[in-house]
Amino acid sequence: RGSYIYRYSSHGLLASLRYNARMGSYGMAENIMVDSHVWVEDPEVAWIHGVVVDIKADQATVKTNDDREVIANLSKLYIKDDEAPSEGVEDMTRLSYLHEPAVLENLATRYGLNEIYTYTGNILIAVNPFQGLPHLYDADVMEKYKEASFKELSPHVFAIGGIAYREMINEGRNKCILVSGESGSGKTETTKVLMRYLAYFGGHTAGEGRTVENQVLESNPVLEAFGNAKTVKNNNSSCFELDGVNDAEEYLATRNAMDVVGISEQEQDAIFRVVAAILHLGNIEFCKGEDADSSSLKDEQSKFHLQMTSELLMCDSHSLEDALCKRIMVTPEEVIKRSLDPLGAAVSRDGLAKTIYSRLFDWLVNKINISIGQDSNSRRLIGVLDIYGFESFKANSFEQFCINYTNEKLQQHFNQHVFKMEQGEYEKEEIDWSYVEFVDNQEVVDLIEKKPGGIIALLDEACMLPKSTPETFSEKLYQTFRDHKRFIKPKLTRSDFTLVHYAGDVRYQSDQFLDKNKDYVVAEHQDMLNASKCSFVSGLFPPLPKESSKSKFSSIGARFKLQLQQLMETLNYTEPHYIRCVKPNNLLQPTVFDNANVLHQLRSGGVLEAIRVKCAGYPTNRTFIEFLNRFIILAPEILKGEYEADVACKWILEKKGLTGYQIGKSKVFLRAGQMAELDAHRTRV
Ligand code: ATP
Ligand code: MG
Repeated sequence: RGSYIYRYSSHGLLASLRYNARMGSYGMAENIMVDSHVWVEDPEVAWIHGVVVDIKADQATVKTNDDREVIANLSKLYIKDDEAPSEGVEDMTRLSYLHEPAVLENLATRYGLNEIYTYTGNILIAVNPFQGLPHLYDADVMEKYKEASFKELSPHVFAIGGIAYREMINEGRNKCILVSGESGSGKTETTKVLMRYLAYFGGHTAGEGRTVENQVLESNPVLEAFGNAKTVKNNNSSCFELDGVNDAEEYLATRNAMDVVGISEQEQDAIFRVVAAILHLGNIEFCKGEDADSSSLKDEQSKFHLQMTSELLMCDSHSLEDALCKRIMVTPEEVIKRSLDPLGAAVSRDGLAKTIYSRLFDWLVNKINISIGQDSNSRRLIGVLDIYGFESFKANSFEQFCINYTNEKLQQHFNQHVFKMEQGEYEKEEIDWSYVEFVDNQEVVDLIEKKPGGIIALLDEACMLPKSTPETFSEKLYQTFRDHKRFIKPKLTRSDFTLVHYAGDVRYQSDQFLDKNKDYVVAEHQDMLNASKCSFVSGLFPPLPKESSKSKFSSIGARFKLQLQQLMETLNYTEPHYIRCVKPNNLLQPTVFDNANVLHQLRSGGVLEAIRVKCAGYPTNRTFIEFLNRFIILAPEILKGEYEADVACKWILEKKGLTGYQIGKSKVFLRAGQMAELDAHRTRV
């Protein structure tokens, strides 16, 4: 009965295209005959439509609209709704036939009309236009949405912002808006639009000066200036991981934004000094020193850059050179000063640059949080979360592991939410919901984070053992998870491992997991920077508490897990609203809609899963009154008698021979396609 199995194990796109797109039970096959308009799978464009010209046993021949003949099993065909409105529908759940090809066609059609927003129930799907659509966001539009109730107007980020805001104010509920999608799909842009609208909705048009609204809005350029980078997937990627950009203008805009979020002029000067120091630091090069395995500055250039770095950081240039070229070893017997070879010195240099930059970035985030958090009157909150999407590259390291772990957690939250909403609705109406199967991704979450015994725990263990290598760590994983369904040891490797994520398999290279997981600042670097005469710099490197001896190990993985737990706790006391951003093509170009690509994102973002949950149950419901208003025309005799509303609804449904629907306490729940059937009767009256 409308059951489905939730399983994503796509080996690349092709396999995922073969994924069975069944969504709920329509008895499709029985309704397909010669002349039926259908969708059939296609390796190029995912789904193509055509007309059935012949049926033999369970094989149909379909003449596609590009004039080819394709033979396919009847069970693999989907009926195409001939009467679907040519401009598409604003809410996918309004599709008469809610299946994968229809969903895709709807998005593509709307995208072609510059309608980039579409609902799936309460989830907003936003397809990146890759071009400015200013009319979408101007003041009139904001005003219109402010006046309207949810779903009264076309789908829009403003509608999501509006309902979150209203429910927060009117019902005192905490809210969060989760904006997700792969890199370049438009999360940050969407978040910015949303924040601007929330500031506007809150009754404060973004004016001049340091209002909380402005601080929130201006926090973006500050974080972007320091956190973003151009990547292959996105020219302005939020990496916290250019031509045609005016540096001077951007610099002024950044300075202005820093003013607004409350960074003082002295602090700003110090920040830019630190950034300049990092740039000089990166230019220092090393050559072999006088002693074996030692290093010294390569040339006059390098000496100049060292001098500049130390002046900008206001620390002693000899200490800086020592900190780069030497390492102090503390053994139980003695303290040894050891020289580093040129390669070791370069690693030390890069480590120092990374440490300073990450401390600086943490400082900025902290500063912004304090400056925004000043508004002590606010007891309710709307959190807006812009998160990096699932990543799967040719080579995947610890960063991808952390990102995908986050996505697993958020996907779980999403699944639970969609499922709970659906179930909650049915329970409230006291109807049966036992048919909804739900397969959770708890298994893979446990595999990663379980304590003890999960991958993060095993990685920490390996980091604490002095003799660990990537191979010993991986060997431990292979042994521990030999029989785990979500873990695969790829052939012919001693250090790679594959995880079966909800969005597909990802093969990780464990070579750098141990190094990247170790979170420590070299003691020499710490001491030198702590001694800086610039209070800003020394403040970034406060003295370490006594007990944290050098050998004590602190792990990035464990810290990441903790932060994620805190985030999930915050999410759990808020009510979520979801925006799923979709990148329509990898060329980053307007008007190009690449079906296979979009389909992959809809699957891995859980959009199809949400639809499937809906379809397996009762995708359409109407209150008794709504239902009667629409369909009383099918049984006007009702008007003559005195019937309870539920009895009247049932009368109509039985008269038209429908089965499988349910009558709740205040609403009629229809199976997939039944609304369309009733509408068809109505047009015939
Ligand atoms: P990452 O995960 O790499 O940070 P992202 O999802 O945050 O990526 P954005 O930086 O928001 O992606 O968007 C990438 C680009 O797409 C933007 O620089 C902009 O050019 C374009 N874009 C996104 N959304 C819109 C929109 N609503 N209108 C116009 N252009 C947009
Ligand atoms: Mg971003």
